Amino acid sequence: MHPDPPIIIVGGGLAGLSCARHLVEAGHPVLVLERDDEFGGRVRTDTFDGFQLDRGFQVLQTAYPEAQQQLDYEALDLKSYTPGALIYKSGRFHRFIDPWRRPWDGIWSGLRSGIGTFGDRLRVANLRAKCKRGEIDDLFAIPEQSTWNSLVEFGFSSEMIESFFRPFLGGVFLERELKTSNRMMMFVFRMFSQGDVAIPARGMQAISQQMMSRVPADSLRAGCYAKRVSENEVELENGELIKASRVILATPAHITAELLNRQPPGNSRRVRCLYFSCQRPPISEPILVLNGEADGPINNLSVPSIVSSELAPIGRHLVSVSVIDKKYVGDRQLESIVIKQCELWFGEQVHDWKLLKQYDIRHALPDQFSGINLQTGHASMKNGLIICGDHLGHGSIQSALKSGRRAAEIILA
Ligand SMILES: Cc1cc2nc3c(=O)[nH]c(=O)nc-3n(C[C@H](O)[C@H](O)[C@H](O)COP(=O)(O)OP(=O)(O)OC[C@H]3O[C@@H](n4cnc5c(N)ncnc54)[C@H](O)[C@@H]3O)c2cc1C
Repeated sequence: MHPDPPIIIVGGGLAGLSCARHLVEAGHPVLVLERDDEFGGRVRTDTFDGFQLDRGFQVLQTAYPEAQQQLDYEALDLKSYTPGALIYKSGRFHRFIDPWRRPWDGIWSGLRSGIGTFGDRLRVANLRAKCKRGEIDDLFAIPEQSTWNSLVEFGFSSEMIESFFRPFLGGVFLERELKTSNRMMMFVFRMFSQGDVAIPARGMQAISQQMMSRVPADSLRAGCYAKRVSENEVELENGELIKASRVILATPAHITAELLNRQPPGNSRRVRCLYFSCQRPPISEPILVLNGEADGPINNLSVPSIVSSELAPIGRHLVSVSVIDKKYVGDRQLESIVIKQCELWFGEQVHDWKLLKQYDIRHALPDQFSGINLQTGHASMKNGLIICGDHLGHGSIQSALKSGRRAAEIILA
């Protein structure tokens, strides 16, 4: 029995769960309050008509050091994507495979693909070598500029930037202008070059569920919207007051600002994700499809049911389409213009596709344009409260997990 009130963590996403498991492991009583009906925050999966739909296309980069420490990859039953992409450009698909991770496939596809020049291949090697040098924290200390400027400075041809980097990094940053800090670009490239891009066999929520399993069930309360917080108390929307020995905010940037009565942070990234079911998959391998052209709403597309057959009922396939371009993201007719673009890419087979569900995620990632969000501390103190969440580092599973651990360490210290 603990005589003291628990440490309250507001927010049951990966940062909150990571914080909770570290405090529990150190013997502290905790209570995690989550607004939604389930834990996991932005890493959740819905079961719909026999399909497993992640709330937005999302992947785990197995090289994330914090994920390696905190997650049991084997239990997640990870399924990997082919390292590379199929890029649609000038009326056909170009297969673009990472030659370091799949040497023969990479060299062969590099010779046949019409994307970029031989010089671009050498520049990729240079970029790769630079991002792998030193410690990860060193990457977050390099002189900062936008990713786009940095790619130009590296000397990449405009064709390589437009056809590959814009859709590829755009899909990671959820913005196609590539205004995101070059530090983030270097970090992401390092992760791509050191590990796989994978998803758990039953969907991304398996990651959240694994984190939940590290915390006693009676320390987790869902359906609790924290309306007001102070150093030693949380008031819920229904008026309930809960005493705490400490309060940790593990909420997203815009809600953290609201709870602290502070200015809202810079714009977060928005994404629309559309899921279709079909009988015949439009591609035959577990690979990311990128839009290498300036036209059309689609940034990237994939067939997750090829990556893991458990994501769709037997005999059906699941297609995931991500739209990030500001021009399209709020469009009410998005489904029909997406299908039109898919018809251009894959032909008449798309007439059989059925829209399963679509997600409009307004706060998918925090603002990552400048260094203020890319410090490596990952947790901080404000008004006597401890703050954590991906917005203190960068929008990723790595950052959320690390941030939660750092918040716990502040208390344990
Ligand atoms: C579409 C999409 C694609 C992504 N792709 C990738 C990817 O490929 N790779 C990658 O590494 N990362 C990706 N990310 C980012 C990654 O998912 C996040 O960085 C990470 O999950 C953030 O975790 P968090 O705990 O900091 O925040 P959240 O997951 O947002 O958790 C915050 C929690 O606080 C709760 N909450 C909010 N307000 C209150 C309140 N007042 N009271 C109680 N609870 C409250 C919320 O409901 C939520 O559960 C993606 C995110 C999205 C949305």
